Amino acid sequence: MSQRISILPENLTNKIAAGEVVERPSSVIKELVENSLDAGATEVSVEIAVGGRRLIRVTDNGHGMSREDALLSLERHATSKIKCDSDLDGILTLGFRGEALPSIASVSRFCLATREQGSLEGTEIIVEGGKVREVKACGMASGTVITVEQIFFNTPARLKFMKSSETETGHVGDVMARLAVSRPDASFSCTSDGRELLRVQRSDLLRRLSQVVGKESASHLHLVENNSEYVTVGGFVSGPSLTRSGPQAMYTYINGRFVRDKVVQHAILQAYRGVIDRGRYPVVALFIQLPAGEVDVNVHPTKHEVRFRRQSVVHDSIQASVEEVLRLSPWLAKKTETSPAKASAAPTGQAYRERIAAAAQASLTLPHREQHYSQSLSRSAVLEATTTAASDAAAEAVAVAVAEPVTPFQSKQESSPSGYFLSLNIIGQFHSEYILCQSGTDLVIIDQHAASERVAFQRLKQQFLAGGVESQRLLFPETIELSFGEVAVAGRFSPELAGIGFELEPFGGNTLMVAAVPRLAAEKDAIRLVRDILADLAQLGASAAFQDALDELLSRVACHSVVRGVHALEIRQMRELLRSMDETEFAASCPHGRPVSHVVTLAELEKIFKRT
Ligand code: ADP
Ligand code: MG
Repeated sequence: MSQRISILPENLTNKIAAGEVVERPSSVIKELVENSLDAGATEVSVEIAVGGRRLIRVTDNGHGMSREDALLSLERHATSKIKCDSDLDGILTLGFRGEALPSIASVSRFCLATREQGSLEGTEIIVEGGKVREVKACGMASGTVITVEQIFFNTPARLKFMKSSETETGHVGDVMARLAVSRPDASFSCTSDGRELLRVQRSDLLRRLSQVVGKESASHLHLVENNSEYVTVGGFVSGPSLTRSGPQAMYTYINGRFVRDKVVQHAILQAYRGVIDRGRYPVVALFIQLPAGEVDVNVHPTKHEVRFRRQSVVHDSIQASVEEVLRLSPWLAKKTETSPAKASAAPTGQAYRERIAAAAQASLTLPHREQHYSQSLSRSAVLEATTTAASDAAAEAVAVAVAEPVTPFQSKQESSPSGYFLSLNIIGQFHSEYILCQSGTDLVIIDQHAASERVAFQRLKQQFLAGGVESQRLLFPETIELSFGEVAVAGRFSPELAGIGFELEPFGGNTLMVAAVPRLAAEKDAIRLVRDILADLAQLGASAAFQDALDELLSRVACHSVVRGVHALEIRQMRELLRSMDETEFAASCPHGRPVSHVVTLAELEKIFKRT
């Protein structure tokens, strides 16, 4: 009889476990810093070289380990944090599985140096690919220093999955940010190739947030405080003036541990329904406290997912806590006041023509502003034209008739209809959002926003293929504070970003200067656009080549270049939009995949009215 089954040697099981816990340098850092915090450290400093691929070093001032414990800590399932079954139900530490150190040591050249407070000397253990090479006494400050070099040197398959050093550095920065937000009472620092990525001294949560998400962003945050018997929800959430294109600035913690949990995220987004646009995400730092037995964190080795015993209670408490803050806040009243007003204030007749003329005037000076203003207009005149006319009238008119931003449309208007869309008979506008047309016996409904977006997208695509998206320099370049991941992609894709019209220059730390943006979107909130583009890239860029992300990025620019929501149009503006649609290589959906037009046939209507 043959024996097929054998127990794997420990070195191999550690490597297998490493596959789950140690995905990339940032996951090593997460594990090591969590250990430092579990050891009571109040100061944690992290050093990486080449995105952590060459070196990761974490130094803390925690309680350290004795020689015996230091040796034991490298054994699989060796932990000081739980002792028996029942402890699993009441975990208050970040770690408990006893897997991180042996896993990390099995896939790197590893050195653990540690000294307990009160002991005369420290212990240094050198491990290579999981094999202990040397154990010796050493002198050092109390605390622990763990050095990880050449991660994955003995697992070539893993090594292949490592990204550029900028990308890995970005992930490290994001992990550090999550940890730093979780513990404002501790100091953190992180350097990458000698350059400081993050340095924060102990402070309170709001100040910590302003260091992590930026001062400007932090000024839009509002306090959440809700203690119920079962769930406590506290922290800060943003008002509608501060949103992001993805959930990357949603810092959510359960019992002090960062989680990326669907239930939690859903609860927060529910609270924001009607407050922010669909597809946008708020900036939040929310700390949810539950009795330890009520949440299972032992679902996945990275502990980013959790399971709640009473999921709906948790969900509803989070939603209610956030809603309470949003409800009390001033912007909701403002929002309902301004949006209908804005729609009805859409210019008509004479006033409108004047504004268009002003916009056209302004736009002439926009692309070559620097040369022009000294010749023709005073600086302040340009400024005014830029800020009032161009960002107002032009944005409105242009955005709708996205074609040729500021060409007054009278010139083209008179030519005879050609193409499908111009052949439609315009009936009128519905709800300032839809254009209703008749085509034979069909009722054609066009979503004007989706259509404008599609036109803008195609225009950008054409420009790109013809050598580069037209860009426009900002008269007053603005600075923008970003996350580490976003700064990393901005650096990495700088030439490609220039190709789609963005010029972003380093401005120290995590700040970039926005010097130019795509011309089509230049009248809009440039900072928000740049933030969205970089967030998109940070999410896609890790794995994809820029080219793969191109359509998505251009559609993001297109989306920013058009007017959102309701917008009253005159018939000729509708015609102009239809004309642009005919001139565009026009698929029947907007770049986000939403349909642009919908046909209701006479037969369908007759059925509704029971005429058949
Ligand atoms: P876990 O954190 O799940 O217990 P680890 O493999 O991460 O497992 O760590 C094993 C043990 O090593 C921990 O339980 C702790 O006792 C000890 N340890 C690890 N890092 C440190 C540190 N920085 N300071 C003090 N003790 C540490
Ligand atoms: Mg641990």
